[in-house]
Amino acid sequence: MTTLWIKNPNAIFTANTLDARGGLVVRDGHIVEVLSAGQTPTQTVDDTFDASEHVVLPGLVNTHHHFYQTLTRACPPALNKRLFPWLKTLYPIWAGLQPEQHALATELAMVELLLSGCTTVADHHYLFPAGLENAIDTQAEVALKLGMRATLTRGSMSLSEDDGGLPPRTVVQSEQVILDDSERLIKRWHQQDEKGLLQVALAPCSPFSVTTDIMRASAELAERYDVGLHTHLAETEDENNFCLRMFGQRPLDYLDSVGWLNNRTWLAHGIHFNDEEVQRLGAAGTGICHCPSSNMVLASGICRVKELREAGSPVGLGVDGSASNDHSNLMQEIRQALLIQRLRYQADEFTHEDAIYLATKGSAQVLRRDDIGELAVGKKADIALFKLDEPRFSGAHDPLGALVLCGASQADAVMIHGEWKVRNKQWLGGDIKQLMSRHSSAAKTLFSAV
Ligand code: ZN
Repeated sequence: MTTLWIKNPNAIFTANTLDARGGLVVRDGHIVEVLSAGQTPTQTVDDTFDASEHVVLPGLVNTHHHFYQTLTRACPPALNKRLFPWLKTLYPIWAGLQPEQHALATELAMVELLLSGCTTVADHHYLFPAGLENAIDTQAEVALKLGMRATLTRGSMSLSEDDGGLPPRTVVQSEQVILDDSERLIKRWHQQDEKGLLQVALAPCSPFSVTTDIMRASAELAERYDVGLHTHLAETEDENNFCLRMFGQRPLDYLDSVGWLNNRTWLAHGIHFNDEEVQRLGAAGTGICHCPSSNMVLASGICRVKELREAGSPVGLGVDGSASNDHSNLMQEIRQALLIQRLRYQADEFTHEDAIYLATKGSAQVLRRDDIGELAVGKKADIALFKLDEPRFSGAHDPLGALVLCGASQADAVMIHGEWKVRNKQWLGGDIKQLMSRHSSAAKTLFSAV
């Protein structure tokens, strides 16, 4: 068993108050020592990584994505559209998704995230057209192959256009199929591997694409197996109007009425909440995934991150699906969070460290994980190391500030469970050019099939 000393970093963000300027000691997939400035390891080390030129962060944690959407980035018919027409344009394209395309999209998205310093990914997959029934199993296999930590959320759509919903009939499933498959996936993949890589959560797509029964039944199933619950909520004003028309309730009242207002739930976007709703979310400990780029691209609004956190909600960060971002770079998303939050709050009320916190400890709390998202003894050795060696950083003074303000996008080295996955900005697990080539041709095939 190798003991590694990540020695004397230039700067380090631990997400806690520890002085860690002496670095970290890693053994057996975990952090076993955190050293203050000038300290040396108490145990014999087999290997040393000189981090004197590195800014060290906990491995970043992404709490919302749709991997398959990497196949419809910058897609001409969907450009410059509002959320509902944007979705209605893309559904018929997505409905043709084939298993091989889905596997490539999953791998590409995970590797893209990894290269940006992300070590834990959450994906919200809700498309199960004929032939793609095992979409989540495919994602689990890819995550295990890459050695990436993943929370795979079993999405669902059960309310088609014919029943007043938004998606076409070909992509919705019956309630029984959804529930049976959800239970099967929990038993097969949730916390079944030795390294704690895989978790499963249940994720009806949104109030406008599932029935009330599936919302209730998913909450019951999640409670029975103690897994997370996830959905999109309060993303746009259109959604508020839809919920008032369809259910006679605002989105949060509806969520409460179906048994979801609790701390196993995390919501993507969470923008259009009033003061009273923010307090209710905080009291319940319901998590929010802030998706800055997506919210800007679709002109959805600005999440009330500070009020939500003060009320008691964990708040994390997500890149969201590539069709509305259109990248999967979590380091860049930290900068976007800083910039968009500065439109809501004063410059001293939301700092660059607050933005990094969202993507590390905040996101871990959203996923109800206390073993990742910070650098401390006993935590998983999921670590992202950045170098300030590009022109954009030249002359920068504060290393942590430079990472966010000058716009870092690529990690120099990334470790998951004590294993190097990226070194010298290169993915060690395969040939990135070949993966991109196969993924690009899958994207062309999917688009041209419509
Ligand atoms: Zn989304």
